[in-house]
Amino acid sequence: MEKKEQLYEGKAKKVFATDDPDLLIVQYKDDATAFNGLKKGTIAGKGIINNQMSNRLMLLLEKQAIPTHFVRELNERETLVKKVRIVPLEVIVRNIAAGSFSKHYGVEEGVVFDKPTIEFSYKNDALGDPLLNFHHALALKVATYRELRTIERYAMRINGILQEFWAACGVTLVDFKMEFGRIADGSIVLADEISPDTCRLWDSNTHEKLDKDRFRRDLGGIEEAYAEIMRRLEEHL
Ligand code: ADP
Ligand code: UDP
Repeated sequence: MEKKEQLYEGKAKKVFATDDPDLLIVQYKDDATAFNGLKKGTIAGKGIINNQMSNRLMLLLEKQAIPTHFVRELNERETLVKKVRIVPLEVIVRNIAAGSFSKHYGVEEGVVFDKPTIEFSYKNDALGDPLLNFHHALALKVATYRELRTIERYAMRINGILQEFWAACGVTLVDFKMEFGRIADGSIVLADEISPDTCRLWDSNTHEKLDKDRFRRDLGGIEEAYAEIMRRLEEHL
């Protein structure tokens, strides 16, 4: 597979064309940002961990009949993926109150929900990724009704699979963000990444944070936390 021109550089990854119009190469960087790019830094080795973790989790999901963009890991930082037309939504599933949910609704961090909850934000940095509901998404024509229903169904199943997997590693999946896209035939697949950058992962016993909140909140021990969560994953996958 030949790597061709760079198509895009985002905050955490670069995207390259290949000689196959239906395939892309994503390259994971060590750059970290938070608060819509206001806070910037690097987390040494993060790109390698996020690439490998995302790929292993997507393989786990594929085995349980969730379609994903994953094709093949090329090296430590690069993966071949199916090119998708991204649905410009950040799909967030939460099992426990934290982050923006706690802030918006005045719920203490750590309150466990009876059932998982789901929300969408409009993926638009200039607008600050505003929250939107199903009807807003339809009004904006970001996806059809059927696509939104499919995304919601996949998101809840993915949450169940990942919750169970992480529980076996002694880790609580607090919340996480997904992106979905349409492949060439129009069907919806899970895209982007699932990593400590996009999930809140707490040690089940100590509630120690093993994710990007250590960077957002200047808690220190960031590299160690990423290494620890990867070690747990490798023990169980
Ligand atoms: P951001 O754009 O938010 O800074 P990244 O640095 O992670 O994020 O950049 C990766 C970009 O690639 C994101 O815009 C994401 O939506 C997009 N993307 C992820 N997977 C695919 C895919 N399979 N096909 C096309 N685009 C993708
Ligand atoms: N998240 C993400 N990218 C974003 C916003 C959120 O990956 O642009 C993830 C975040 O890591 C967390 C979950 O989505 O696991 C919920 O984030 P929240 O809405 O609480 O946002 P934040 O605390 O980052 O403002």
